[in-house]
Amino acid sequence: MARDHARRSLRAVITTVTFGLLAITLVLAFVGYQALRHAEDAHHTNTERTTKASALARDLLGALVDQEVGLRGYLATGRTSFLEPLRAGELEERRTRIDLWAALDQLGEPKFKDLRLALVNAIDDWHRSIAGPQIKLRDDGALADLPAALVSGKEGFDRIREAHAPVMAAIREREAAYNEEARKTEQLIRGLLAALMLTVLVLALLGTRYLLRHTVRPLAELAQRAERQQGFPAPRADEPIREVHALSRALSQLDDTVRLREEELAHLHEDAVALAKFGEYVQQLSDEEELHDSFERVMTRLGAPSKVNIMIRNASKNRLEVVRPEISVEDQIKHPILSEPLKCRAVRTLREVTANADSPTVCRCELGVPTAGSHLCIPMLAAGELIGITNLQSDQRDHFNPAMTQTVQAYGGFAGATVSSLRLIAATRERALRDGLTGAHNRAFLGEYMTKTLAAARRRSSQLGVLMVDLDHFKKINDVHGHLVGDQAIVALARCLQAQTRTSDAVVRYGGEEFVVLLLDADAAGARQTAERIRSAVEATRITFGGIEYGDILRASVGVALFPEHGSDEQSLLAAADAALYRAKREGRNRVVVAVDPAQPS
Ligand code: GH3
Ligand code: MG
Ligand code: MG
Repeated sequence: MARDHARRSLRAVITTVTFGLLAITLVLAFVGYQALRHAEDAHHTNTERTTKASALARDLLGALVDQEVGLRGYLATGRTSFLEPLRAGELEERRTRIDLWAALDQLGEPKFKDLRLALVNAIDDWHRSIAGPQIKLRDDGALADLPAALVSGKEGFDRIREAHAPVMAAIREREAAYNEEARKTEQLIRGLLAALMLTVLVLALLGTRYLLRHTVRPLAELAQRAERQQGFPAPRADEPIREVHALSRALSQLDDTVRLREEELAHLHEDAVALAKFGEYVQQLSDEEELHDSFERVMTRLGAPSKVNIMIRNASKNRLEVVRPEISVEDQIKHPILSEPLKCRAVRTLREVTANADSPTVCRCELGVPTAGSHLCIPMLAAGELIGITNLQSDQRDHFNPAMTQTVQAYGGFAGATVSSLRLIAATRERALRDGLTGAHNRAFLGEYMTKTLAAARRRSSQLGVLMVDLDHFKKINDVHGHLVGDQAIVALARCLQAQTRTSDAVVRYGGEEFVVLLLDADAAGARQTAERIRSAVEATRITFGGIEYGDILRASVGVALFPEHGSDEQSLLAAADAALYRAKREGRNRVVVAVDPAQPS
């Protein structure tokens, strides 16, 4: 924390100093530029002044020279034409003198005063004591000694030249001084500007380095770290740049989100594969019990419920049965919802029902709703028809989310379809093994069944009774009352046989009005007894058809054979029973005859 604070303070100071320096540099650059312009203007003015002063000084000397030449000409020739340049020179001299003095004053050099005075004196002295008197003498024709006059004139003019030369020199000197001054100022300012430019350059370099260090480099490092870690790393706590920190955090979060989505997809894929495997597995099942087991296993694993109830509609579709966990009939009876399935909301709506146990709208169902936590009931459907209900319970509230509901629904769909198709297959098989008229088993069933039953009886050393039952004089019934009544007689016989035997016994229509009855665990006495019971029940049976009751027309003969006494396989047993039946017919019909032991002579 303290280090962070110190770093922030230091950064604030550096920023302030940098911006301060930049501001000062800009101000100095502006001031320097202004000074340079000002110095240039001043230098220009001074140069103009010195140029003007030296021109005026030259003009003054020119005007004086004109006068001197004119004077010498006049003195030498006496011609007045020489006086014209003299006078013009005088005029020029007067004008120039005023301007020159003013120009010299502007130059503001104190020594100009003395120089000017010396020049004025020399000029005035020449006018007063040389030019003036000599012109007068010449005018008067009194100039006696011309050469002496010329000499004195020349000497006077030399004094002017001597006084003029220092003035010129001083002006030039002044000019040179100005030039030097300007040169120095310019140098100074140029130096200053160069220094400023250097400062700006250094600041620009520092700025670029700062930018590189604080944007490009951290970004590059972030990219490198991402590359090395195969993903965006979490932001470094000491990351100095807010934006990079934010970017890093955002990318890292994005990374997490993508990973999460990947995991979700992987889970979804796993779920889909598991569901497909379940679908494939249940397709191979041939038994509903196996399906119940595997469906219970899947439901118990899925979403870790604390309780699973699998309820399936029974074959006659009037009630639900809890098939898993296996519970006793007494316990099944305890729950009225099983015998009245329409009391169940999921059954009524054919939609999932889920709620917390403490919800005001929760179902009042002791079987499917826990006292605390939550529950989920999903109807198992096949071709839109209810097959059963999957009920899951949890100790926790809100345990069953939409995803789980969907998954349970998908598994329930497979389970429902499997129950439906297993039942359809069973029904088809059953139909194939039963006789259409009476509902009794047919001969196709008998072969398979007898083989299995004889094998079991052999294993358990138990006995088996085989009855062959045939209606007496059946042709007559057909002939007298018609085939439809004959059919009813056959149906009535089948019912008699079913009624007089146990459910574990098998009643088989062997052909026409002839039936075979297999009696499990029956000894000779028991088999005979059952046969007799059948015979007398047939005798007592009355057929009603088309509103007409046909009186006492049914009689039956029964042949009895026993395993193992009368045969060890299907053929021998059936043959023995048939032989006994034949004997019963021969002996007068409407009777029971037991087969003779093949070991004893008949
Ligand atoms: P018996 O006492 O010797 O058995 O005399 P019976 O007339 O019953 O003789 P049998 O058992 O040989 O008669 C079989 C007759 O049953 C032949 C056929 O006309 C009739 N039958 C066979 N199947 C059917 C059927 O499905 N419906 C009807 N109405 N009659 C059948
Ligand atoms: Mg018959
Ligand atoms: Mg017959």
